[in-house]
Amino acid sequence: MDFRHTAYIGIGSNLGNKKRNCLNGIEAIEGDHECCVETKSPLYLTEPVDFEDQAWFVNGVIKICTCLDPVGLLNRLKGIEKKAGRVSSGIKFGPRILDLDILFFDELILNTEYLTLPHPRLHKRRFVLRPLFDIEPDLIHPVLKKNIRTLLLDLKDGGRRIILFE
Ligand code: AMP
Repeated sequence: MDFRHTAYIGIGSNLGNKKRNCLNGIEAIEGDHECCVETKSPLYLTEPVDFEDQAWFVNGVIKICTCLDPVGLLNRLKGIEKKAGRVSSGIKFGPRILDLDILFFDELILNTEYLTLPHPRLHKRRFVLRPLFDIEPDLIHPVLKKNIRTLLLDLKDGGRRIILFE
């Protein structure tokens, strides 16, 4: 199989055993014969953003290679979320047992109703940038043309707390 694509996946959970849910998500991707996990960031305990009246999250990022196309990968991730028991809380950015987002897919820039690449909010979120920095600080955002190190330094998030979890 031709694992020609590189993707970065953001992982999060703030319901139940949050660390276990994140690890289960990573294990499900590892078990997918069309994906191959290359690097895993540490996990962080992170203060919620956007919808703030909810439990803190556990978040991390992994780097994978895959032979799937972007939509194929997103569908695969949605299947893993569903299997983990994810149901909609009805609140945008609300509580979730498992959240898997595609942060980057090669250097692809895509804007469709179903999928936006790079992920449209990644540069505003410490809980994404910090674990990305741990595994690939020099990765360049193809739209903003800045690396992860710079995006993290530029971040103005009002002192959102994130704490190394392990
Ligand atoms: P979320 O609530 O964060 O899981 O996002 C829900 C929706 O965002 C999904 O139904 C996707 O179709 C859409 N979406 C758009 N761009 C992305 C992306 N880069 N990664 C994951 N989901 C995305």
